[in-house]
Amino acid sequence: MKKYSLLSHRGEEPENGTLYIVGTPIGNLDDISPRALKILKNVSLIACEDTRQTKKIMNKFIISNRLISFNKHNSLRKIPKIINDLKEGKSIALVSDAGMPGICDPGEDIAKSIKSEGFDVICIPGACAAITALVSSGMPSSSFVFEGFLPKKKSEREKILLEISTNEKTTIIYESPHRLKSLLKELSEFCGGEREIEIARELTKKFEEHVGNTIDDVIEFFREKDIIGEITIVIKGINKKRDLKLSMSNIKKELNELIKAGLTLSEASKYLAKKNGIKKSIIYNLNYA
Ligand code: SAM
Repeated sequence: MKKYSLLSHRGEEPENGTLYIVGTPIGNLDDISPRALKILKNVSLIACEDTRQTKKIMNKFIISNRLISFNKHNSLRKIPKIINDLKEGKSIALVSDAGMPGICDPGEDIAKSIKSEGFDVICIPGACAAITALVSSGMPSSSFVFEGFLPKKKSEREKILLEISTNEKTTIIYESPHRLKSLLKELSEFCGGEREIEIARELTKKFEEHVGNTIDDVIEFFREKDIIGEITIVIKGINKKRDLKLSMSNIKKELNELIKAGLTLSEASKYLAKKNGIKKSIIYNLNYA
């Protein structure tokens, strides 16, 4: 059984030979916690995604400390060096450019590697865009799915879009502003334009904006606009009772029945695509989902 207890909870941190994964603000620098500042000030060194971003926090809070770069390009090379530093008794803070390291940011692999070497990993929690967007959306939040950035490969992407279209849970997605319009189009094709959605733009920043209510409304809102800033998308899950007729699982059942009745997969998909106003390929792939 793995177990470790910490001096930190008696207020004596940072401890030697410990990696601190430190959450930083997603915009408003005042969102950093006093505990995070104490760690950044007192660790032996800070591993950060981009030194220029981390310096903004350090300058504002008058912290000087040694910075080393740790990003997706050098993480494999840097992890053994960090382990060596921990062996020498150093304490290390890991930060990303914004939010929680490891959430679509460098840091996902490091905790496992460090723990497997027998060192302690402690998270100093901070802002996360996904959670901030979810909570402010007002959509059900007791159970949700976080997809991060959707995969670019068509088959993988369609698989996830299909899952979102039939999921009862709220889904959260990250997307870049210049790809938002095409993602909204895909969401409309898979989920229908009436599905509830909220686009959270520039959370915690000066021009924070929340745009809803349905996918169609949001497409219309952004139609003539150039989209800039950081974007998190929250999509409401289906209500099985209310959306029974619209739900993909229902269409899948109908697809199976038509095939049993003698139609080919292609013929049945074409018929249901026309009937439901959904792309034929989406219905075709339901057969394999
Ligand atoms: N680790 C971060 C976290 O904990 O939220 C996420 C890092 S990921 C590389 C960056 C993406 O997070 C952005 O493209 C955007 O989708 C989302 N994001 C970050 N800051 C945001 C903000 N202030 N408002 C809305 N979305 C944001």
